[in-house]
Amino acid sequence: MKSEEKSNFNPDLFRHRKASLLSVEKYVEGITQGDRTILGRAITLIESERVDHQQLAQQVIERCMPLSGKSIRIGITGSPGVGKSTFVEALGQVVIQDDHRVAVLAIDPTSTISKGSILGDKTRMEQLSNHPRAYIRPSASGQSLGGVARKTRETILLCEAAGYDVILIETVGVGQSEIAVHSMTDLFLLLLLPGAGDELQGIKRGIVEMADILAINKSDGERVHLARQTQLAYQQATHLALAKDSEWVPVVTTCSALEKTGIGEIWESVQNYHQSVQSNGYLPGNRKNQAVFWLKDHIDVYLRNSFYNHPAVARKKEDVEKDVMLGKCSPFQGAKILLDIFEKE
Ligand code: GDP
Repeated sequence: MKSEEKSNFNPDLFRHRKASLLSVEKYVEGITQGDRTILGRAITLIESERVDHQQLAQQVIERCMPLSGKSIRIGITGSPGVGKSTFVEALGQVVIQDDHRVAVLAIDPTSTISKGSILGDKTRMEQLSNHPRAYIRPSASGQSLGGVARKTRETILLCEAAGYDVILIETVGVGQSEIAVHSMTDLFLLLLLPGAGDELQGIKRGIVEMADILAINKSDGERVHLARQTQLAYQQATHLALAKDSEWVPVVTTCSALEKTGIGEIWESVQNYHQSVQSNGYLPGNRKNQAVFWLKDHIDVYLRNSFYNHPAVARKKEDVEKDVMLGKCSPFQGAKILLDIFEKE
């Protein structure tokens, strides 16, 4: 009987059922009730390139918007190997013990190339991922940085609507992804290694200046003294830097994500920061600016797509490119020809 049941089982039917879409109401209901499976399916919709999925995702986001915004959004960056994943796992546990619900997201446009360099490895964050008050979502893959960043921002909104009040966004330290994460978070946390200066760690000056909390990780074993020296050097550097719009003086501290020391102090600094920027009005103002940034970003993407998908533009594009390459017309003239076609037809 059992084998009969098995042979009657149609895997395609199951696959189809698994992939089937829900109504907007069902997604919203599931998300707001904290149903992680439905939250995950809604995020998959956000990540999908299909137009019908996108439209549905936008309706879900729209409905979740009024319930979002009530979290602290923390960006965590640092060069590969500094200990970001280990740190996120340690911080996440402290946050949970403090009765919060934590969502961990990632911005990693390179994950298809490096085969899941962050959050992709299932053996990582084992303790955190098994906790009912934690939700971990690896980065959307196979897309440009801009695409991944847009989707991560929308994912933040759904996680907030699902009741996660601390959002940790991990990024690879490769330059542009820090800028992207900065445009969607309230607080920027930079992890550094003991000893090496930031140039040696592959971190640009601008990134150090963006940081609200700098933590010298791996302050354990023989590195404790070196970590302390590095802390003093960064303390001096941050004191010399210009005051921030948030009026917050960056905290420079040491920690060991592996031994879970200094993590509670960092969580305290996060809470102090949150209180400070809420009471001086910086946080709501910053979020408004970020919303306008994303408005412009969506318009840019929409216009670029409509331009390149415009049939008459697509027909003429190759010829114009050839002319520009051969020097028959300037890039400016070439752009003008295509834009005129786009505007007129
Ligand atoms: P990521 O690439 O920045 O995400 O770094 P990982 O979290 O994967 O850590 C890279 C390596 O450093 C791993 O072998 C970790 O076990 C180790 N590591 C992370 N944090 C610490 C720490 O605080 N102390 C020590 N000694 N090792 C650490």
